[in-house]
Amino acid sequence: AKDGGRNTIRDYDPAMLVEAQARLLLLQDLRKAVDAGEFTLFLQPQTGADGTLVAAEALIRWQHPQRGFVAPGAFIAEAEESGLILPIGDWVLMEACHVLRRLADAGSDCHLSVNISPRQFRQPNFCAGVIAALRATRTDPRRLTLEITEGIAVGDCADTAAKMSELAALGISFSLDDFGTGFSSLSYLKRLPVREIKIDRSFVQDVDSNSHNAVLVETMLSIASRLGLKVVAEGVETAAERDFLEDRGCAVFQGYYFDRPMPVEDFITKYMKNPEI
Ligand code: C2E
Ligand code: CA
Ligand code: CA
Ligand code: CA
Repeated sequence: AKDGGRNTIRDYDPAMLVEAQARLLLLQDLRKAVDAGEFTLFLQPQTGADGTLVAAEALIRWQHPQRGFVAPGAFIAEAEESGLILPIGDWVLMEACHVLRRLADAGSDCHLSVNISPRQFRQPNFCAGVIAALRATRTDPRRLTLEITEGIAVGDCADTAAKMSELAALGISFSLDDFGTGFSSLSYLKRLPVREIKIDRSFVQDVDSNSHNAVLVETMLSIASRLGLKVVAEGVETAAERDFLEDRGCAVFQGYYFDRPMPVEDFITKYMKNPEI
């Protein structure tokens, strides 16, 4: 009993307890946030090399009364694990469609990309939810792009393909996010109706000076071009990175060099020709 006690003490790691408590608190706060509607969408422009607006990505922000702005990196994984991503994801889709309606009312044909979590996508009623959000806002499905990651097809692959085909038939586009970071990106392109790839920021970073990234990015651009896929380079932070990408055929850019994610109001004021609407 003595030994067991000592072992228990030795194995006890206070840092683990602190972490578990922090997660529990986050989960409680996240539940409240869903009920209280503490989320908002930011928009980050996707532009041509000259900064001409093509589309925007909707990025969720959590405005917590005490924590302040919580970045998605700090809560999306927890939301996914707990299932709270389902009400959050429903909210994001509906809100994104409202934004698309506002953009259309402002006379813009800007497209909007929305991040879809694997768990959200796997819901049996996922397609019905997307269609309902489009209908409720009288939004043209061709303006909506769903950003998915490889994680989406874990499990029932036939189901994934069927859902994507159903939505693609309505005019909705699919973009493969974080392209190049997984192990099966290429087989996805063959099996699923994907229109676009997003070259992950980790490859775009220093692409003009990092020869390893340069080779990888050139290869991705070549694959996309041969397969007739659109490409968005994400995380473009410098003119040198943009120039390198543009010289090799990349047409659409997203990153701090062009603009940061911003509140919808700011986006409309800055990028719409008729912002007063
Ligand atoms: P992501 O989909 O890869 O989104 C791109 C992230 O890169 C965003 O971070 C964006 O703010 C950031 N970013 C854009 N340009 C630059 C740049 O030039 N430099 C740097 N350093 N970063 C840049 P954010 O908004 O913090 O989102 C993080 C992740 O959270 C997203 O990564 C996405 O996976 C997830 N996420 C965001 N919004 C949603 C959402 O509505 N639903 C779901 N399921 N996930 C979301
Ligand atoms: Ca994304
Ligand atoms: Ca991404
Ligand atoms: Ca990324």
